[in-house]
Amino acid sequence: RRQALSKYRDIECSTQDHHRIQLMANITSLNDVARLAQFGIDGIGLFRTEFLLMDATRVPDEKAQFTQYYNAIHLLAGKTITIRTLDIGADKEFACLPNKQQEDNPALGIRGIRYSLKHKALLRSQLRAVLRVAEFGSVRLMFPMVTQAEELDELLAEVAICQQQLQQEGKKFGELQLGIVVETPAAVLNLASMLPKLDFISIGSNDLAQYTLAADRTNLALAADYPAFCPAVLQLINMTVQTAKQAGVSCSLCGEMASDSRIAPILVGMGLEELSINPAAIPEVKALLCEGNYQQFCDLARQALACKRISELESLLVSCKLPS
Ligand code: PEP
Ligand code: MG
Repeated sequence: RRQALSKYRDIECSTQDHHRIQLMANITSLNDVARLAQFGIDGIGLFRTEFLLMDATRVPDEKAQFTQYYNAIHLLAGKTITIRTLDIGADKEFACLPNKQQEDNPALGIRGIRYSLKHKALLRSQLRAVLRVAEFGSVRLMFPMVTQAEELDELLAEVAICQQQLQQEGKKFGELQLGIVVETPAAVLNLASMLPKLDFISIGSNDLAQYTLAADRTNLALAADYPAFCPAVLQLINMTVQTAKQAGVSCSLCGEMASDSRIAPILVGMGLEELSINPAAIPEVKALLCEGNYQQFCDLARQALACKRISELESLLVSCKLPS
């Protein structure tokens, strides 16, 4: 089986009827990047930069961040990297951050860009480092937890300020593709007004499920009854894909469900042309996508979207006849 899976390592991810899918990796450290060559991917669809803060006694400055991103770009040898700005807060707490205030509901609190916009020196150090490495490769920058247009405007203004600063300092920087993680119902509903300002979006289905179902993603007592692969979340994913398509903005999905080889084909059938998944899941997901037919995936997606209950979706996953 392992041999069969490695068969697809060096070829592009495309279905039997020649539908091309960008298969990207989610990574949390530089070590992950070094290991990616063995899998055969199109790039990194989610670089969780919180790794910079893990075990750190001090927050890394612009120079330290630049070095880390530069090393990742070097290892990727021309492939795209999608760097997500720090997603601090909720279950992502770090000792090196000063005075993070206690909150009664941290998942609904100062998290992701809400934190970044309150700590602009930290945000700017990250934006400047990313802008500077963009000179050396194909770099996408994405913002987590954006829910409404005002936040996006403020973030884009920050990017513009950093570009101006770098220019005035005579420092080189490159072109960036800008995107947001769509991971709240509000982001889905407000998407159309934000898309004209974006180059891409990526659906964060882990948080989209948490915020849609009002079910804490870290609470194991809820996991079985509130799966991300459920009718409500699928409808929101579908809305997002359709809205992005209408605006001509490319749309990816980087949540855990894309790493499930039974679900990935359904997501492709819904119109997602890019999936970003855990490195360990790449061989299996890639083999399934390469051995299947896009038309078959579209049928599956139609069936999935017609399901009204979690149990119907579960039956669909069991019954769908994909090559194995
Ligand atoms: C998500 O929310 O689906 C996601 C990909 O990001 P994270 O799991 O880091 O919140
Ligand atoms: Mg998230």
